[in-house]
Amino acid sequence: MSNVETRPVETECEHQPAPQSGGRPVVEVLTARDVPLGGPRAMTVRRTLPQRRRSLIGAWCFADHYGPDDVASSGGMDVPPHPHTGLQTVSWLFAGDVEHRDSGGNHALVRPGEMNLMTGGRGICHSEVSTPGTEVLHGVQLWVALPEHARDAPRDLQHHVPAPLRIDGATVRVFLGTLLGHTSPVRTFTPLVGAELTLDPGAVVALDVDPTFEHGVLADTAGLSMEGTPLGRADLGFIGPGPTTLSLANGDNQPGRLLLLGGTPFEEDILMWWNFVGRSHEEIERFRADWQAGTERFGSVEGYQGPVQRLPAPELPHVRIRPRQNPAPPTTPPTSPTTPTA
Ligand code: MN
Repeated sequence: MSNVETRPVETECEHQPAPQSGGRPVVEVLTARDVPLGGPRAMTVRRTLPQRRRSLIGAWCFADHYGPDDVASSGGMDVPPHPHTGLQTVSWLFAGDVEHRDSGGNHALVRPGEMNLMTGGRGICHSEVSTPGTEVLHGVQLWVALPEHARDAPRDLQHHVPAPLRIDGATVRVFLGTLLGHTSPVRTFTPLVGAELTLDPGAVVALDVDPTFEHGVLADTAGLSMEGTPLGRADLGFIGPGPTTLSLANGDNQPGRLLLLGGTPFEEDILMWWNFVGRSHEEIERFRADWQAGTERFGSVEGYQGPVQRLPAPELPHVRIRPRQNPAPPTTPPTSPTTPTA
């Protein structure tokens, strides 16, 4: 999916120190803000990254959680061709199917349990439309920032269907990186891990993790906890490097589902605006101008059926947000009248 806010602000993302207590890393709970995706019957997504307290977990720089969404009332997903730079997108669905087309010539179906990772280094554009047969849409959209040496990586789409691994108390699907001795074949440019875990009712799992990674746990269901810290639905629990195991528990009497996201701390400062990741305001201005002018940087999408063939870029403001210099957000973020969407 895309950031379709019509008045996005530039967000400076940088690695922020992990909270500790008594020299040991402790869990920081990042709550989501609701972001309507636009249109009269629009879906609303729950965004946990970036936010003022934390903008990066490893190279993970954007996390939207949505659904389960009744497509008959929401209209589902229909995002016209829009651009990306400097990032990879990870689409992971729990329910529903999404048709993907990109300017790398790829036409693919995104299905539950199947990962699609799109690389849009120098520039790519793509469209995403839920299929006519989709009744419920439920999933996540994640972005990975590319490091300096890979920022101009060519357009690419990788598809991987991880085999479900059964461990005591949980079923695990490793879609990126290595976990439980299983390694995804999908190529990334920084050390990363991404996995879906479904915990049995009442299960407590001690998961072996890479101690050089920082980790996030995105809760898809209620009743989960991480290292004893409760996570509400759509919360993102964060913990810094150090632990060799993570304790994950499901206090509910239904199966509990979460995504584990991790990576080595990403030390480069990045600037995010709309659907672009760059390094400077001037660079973001150039990306925007190239998209508006239809230059070859982004190419074009073939076969998208819709009245809008290219999602126009919003105006680029001169206001920036520096996450670390802002106070922590309130527990329940207010709806901001300054960033309307349409
Ligand atoms: Mn997109």
